[in-house]
Amino acid sequence: MIVTEKKEYSEVRKFINAGDKIFIIGCAQCATSCGTGGEKEVAELAEHLKNEALEITGTIVLDPPCDERICKIELKKHNNALNNSDKIIVLACGAGISVINDLLPNKQIVSGLDGVFLGSLKRLGVYNEYCSLCGECLLSKTGGICPVTRCAKGLLNGPCGGIVDGKYCEVNTNNRCAWSLIYERLTHQNKTKNLLEYQQPRKYNKYAKPNTFNKR
Ligand code: SF4
Ligand code: SF4
Repeated sequence: MIVTEKKEYSEVRKFINAGDKIFIIGCAQCATSCGTGGEKEVAELAEHLKNEALEITGTIVLDPPCDERICKIELKKHNNALNNSDKIIVLACGAGISVINDLLPNKQIVSGLDGVFLGSLKRLGVYNEYCSLCGECLLSKTGGICPVTRCAKGLLNGPCGGIVDGKYCEVNTNNRCAWSLIYERLTHQNKTKNLLEYQQPRKYNKYAKPNTFNKR
């Protein structure tokens, strides 16, 4: 899931002017799981704004806002309210916000969340950062542990010289060194020969092709 955090209310509020009419959009998937943009958070934000005498024209929690097909259908049902709104606050990751922005080109979009990383939910408020979407997944070679994301330096060919006690990351000694974890896992699987293969630098431009981005 895309892990998000709520922006401070004051951060969102500074994009809203006195007298603005506001429509709020939430996300029924990742942001709901993170407790940042579901029904509850949309209602709470609406309440805050109403308490400041701002008009809420409507709210919707899209399932999900990053699916343009669904947004087109669902937003149509709120056409009047959306047309009657000055600002659209979106409680979703950057992908969801961008879809809404594309579909409502004449409206000012205000982002209510910060996208933090792609990871997993351990329990509410506790997440694991697992993937940086590098475009060339290495996990079959590295025992399912991502060095791009979990090594603080994103090293691809073994640990740096700073590893602490052969186990901990010098950048943050509360974290295990990703490469020590990789080594342990590959040893357990009898696959340490994987480490002999030199990993080329990631081709971060792999998906930066003209057809990746839908120009409107
Ligand atoms: S190597 Fe790491 S960053 Fe790249 S796709 Fe796989 S998990 Fe994601
Ligand atoms: S100690 Fe390990 S995880 Fe930390 S930066 Fe060095 S190689 Fe990466």
